Amino acid sequence: MKNEMPLLPYAEQGLEPVLSAETLSYHYGKHLQTYVTNLEKLVKGTEYEGKEVEEIVRTAPDGGIFNNAGQVLNHTLYFLQFTTPGQGKRPEGRLDELIRRDFGSLDLLKQQMDDAAITLFGSGWAWLSLTEDGRLQISQEGNAGNPLRRNNRPLLCFDVWEHAYYVDYRNRRADYVKKLWDLIDWQVVGGRLEDKE
Ligand code: MN
Repeated sequence: MKNEMPLLPYAEQGLEPVLSAETLSYHYGKHLQTYVTNLEKLVKGTEYEGKEVEEIVRTAPDGGIFNNAGQVLNHTLYFLQFTTPGQGKRPEGRLDELIRRDFGSLDLLKQQMDDAAITLFGSGWAWLSLTEDGRLQISQEGNAGNPLRRNNRPLLCFDVWEHAYYVDYRNRRADYVKKLWDLIDWQVVGGRLEDKE
């Protein structure tokens, strides 16, 4: 994908009451916009200028270019995996099969993902990704981390930087994490499993 703001398939109030319009206006409108703007400035005149964000995330050394590219990719995947509360259906097809095989059930996957998100120390992300040998994996990634860095395919992510939840949930990260499931659009997550790169 290019370094640009993703178009959201819902209105600013569309994720309430899980995430407020105020959170969305800051998190999408200010935080993500800043990462997009910073990345554009940082890559000018470097070998990364004009490259896809995924390629920068895979190949850039630790530092400003990687951090901003990671945050552009992470937030794009985060915001685009959401839909109106309760409208996200359930995993189907291959995704459903892999969840049963690798976790036992969707509820057990949710427990592991919640645990990863709640216990991550400091700022970062909890991820569900597909390993190179085709297994689903949950991981904690600090700061701008993305499983693509280890050649895993990112499928689903929970942002646990405080800016993601402090307006709506204050210090109650666990409440935020558990509510996020109401927003997940499993069609989108399943589509990421099938996307060819
Ligand atoms: Mn964020």
